[in-house]
Amino acid sequence: MDTQELIRSLSHSTSSKIILLVLDGLGGLPQPETGKTELETASTPNLDKLAIKGVCGLSDPIAPGITPGSAPGHLALFGYDPIRYEIGRGVLEATGIDFAVQPGDVAARGNFCTVDGNGLVTDRRAGRISDEKCTELCQILDRQHIDGIEVIVRPVRGHRFVAVFRGEGLSPEVNDSDPQQVGLLPLDITARNIESVKLANIANKFISSARELLAEQNPANMVLFRGFSGEPGFPSMKDIYKLNPAAVAGYPMYRGLARLVGMDTLDTGPGISDVFATVKEYYEKYDFFFLHYKPTDAAGEDGDFDRKVKAIEEVDEALPELTALDLDVLVVTGDHSTPAILKGHSWHPVPILLSSKFCRADDVKNFSESSCVKGGLGRISTVDIMPLAMANALKLKKFGA
Ligand code: ZN
Repeated sequence: MDTQELIRSLSHSTSSKIILLVLDGLGGLPQPETGKTELETASTPNLDKLAIKGVCGLSDPIAPGITPGSAPGHLALFGYDPIRYEIGRGVLEATGIDFAVQPGDVAARGNFCTVDGNGLVTDRRAGRISDEKCTELCQILDRQHIDGIEVIVRPVRGHRFVAVFRGEGLSPEVNDSDPQQVGLLPLDITARNIESVKLANIANKFISSARELLAEQNPANMVLFRGFSGEPGFPSMKDIYKLNPAAVAGYPMYRGLARLVGMDTLDTGPGISDVFATVKEYYEKYDFFFLHYKPTDAAGEDGDFDRKVKAIEEVDEALPELTALDLDVLVVTGDHSTPAILKGHSWHPVPILLSSKFCRADDVKNFSESSCVKGGLGRISTVDIMPLAMANALKLKKFGA
């Protein structure tokens, strides 16, 4: 039995509630001039108060030394081993635009491209057309029915779009049509096994139809496909944890990820106060809330140390609106580190703070990387956060007699 099976066998539903507050890209590195990280620079009296009463530590989202993408980082936070639970590229793209991929669906990443009179690809990105043009072209291709299969086409950004094939008997093991270089013909979609022949045939018919429908367009007169993948069929959080979970996230990708593990997604406004207000509004209806806050990561990616500090302070300032709810278990952490000085995600372990009526408080007096190193949780794997939160909410029965 693996840990997730064990948790499934021990979990039971109670009235207590768990809040998982994710500050995307929370972890940082010291600014050379001050020797302090973003979190250490930020004034965070409310988080520090929680740290005094709670228990802190550091967590590795995937494994030590591995830099995570936000998708595997979040799967780990939800208690799903991100190495075992993979999300295919097509489905990830659909998730990124908040498209509800259903069981049996196959999603593919599409590019609008340019072909010449002989059908040879001359630009794999169709001169990077505008978002508006992409939307217009997707409407031309959308909602075709081919041999009983519906093909739904949605814009992503620029030349990128998603095609979702919906209907009976589709299997995603087919090859890409993108030849990966100019001067070549787009490839036919070929099946890698007998089960996938149906999808390959339909995808090829769709591509032929797209060639005709886009013939008069310039420069985007053809499509290329990559990364066909099926809805991953992850077990639901309802099943594993006996929770009724909800996600409060403004960004589409995080709503999409939450949906893949069976969370309801709640509409919310852009600010952290909006997120907290949404929790308050639905507090009786759900017993697990995943709250997502993007500005920390966005500032880190931009290399803007000061903006990341401000983003952290903004959460701290609003925090009393959340803690006023008399929470059973509150976890504050990130899905990975995004140090401003690296302008991107990094492998550094992420600070975590767990506050509950039953946690064993440690000596940590403020929420920061250097304090969390000495915290009572030590250095844990991110997939172990959910079991800890469940235990602190008294939602796990004893193992063995
Ligand atoms: Zn992230």
